[in-house]
Amino acid sequence: QEIDLHSLLDSVVKKIKILGEDKEMSIELVGTTDVKIYADPGLLKQALSNLIDNAFKYGDEKSIVQVFTEVKDDKVYINVLNHGIGIQEKDIDKIFDKFYRVDSSRTRKTGGVGLGLSVVKSIVDIHKGKLEVKSIPHKETIFTIILKKI
Ligand code: ATP
Ligand code: MG
Repeated sequence: QEIDLHSLLDSVVKKIKILGEDKEMSIELVGTTDVKIYADPGLLKQALSNLIDNAFKYGDEKSIVQVFTEVKDDKVYINVLNHGIGIQEKDIDKIFDKFYRVDSSRTRKTGGVGLGLSVVKSIVDIHKGKLEVKSIPHKETIFTIILKKI
């Protein structure tokens, strides 16, 4: 289905209220992009929600989660950025596996079974897209969904 990316991101971001709980975190959609893509809106929203859920869960208190897009050639890059503990190089390849959680996440108070990212990966695969992650431990983490624009 043909969807307007900015409206979809806007509706996802606006729905988020209580994710930060007592961490006093917030979320913002940075910039606007006039891009249309073919995607299943329900699935894409689910994928974004899982990334945003992680951004809040592993984000620092009082920090801000940012969602922003970039367009290059025929592709659109949808980024979810957070400031927090981040992910070490040795764990990066494993986090997309079902039930994998980094040790520090297991021992932390944060709940979870380790399925969120495997679902994101499946959804991105269904759309023939790509999923990338860049992380600087104890600084920032960016997950990027790359899709073809129309
Ligand atoms: P679930 O999503 O099933 O509730 P989960 O969040 O632990 O549980 P995933 O979303 O699959 O599972 O993430 C796997 C692991 O990757 C997490 O346990 C965490 O260690 C790490 N991780 C994911 N996103 C981030 C992030 N933004 N910052 C730091 N670590 C992250
Ligand atoms: Mg998760």
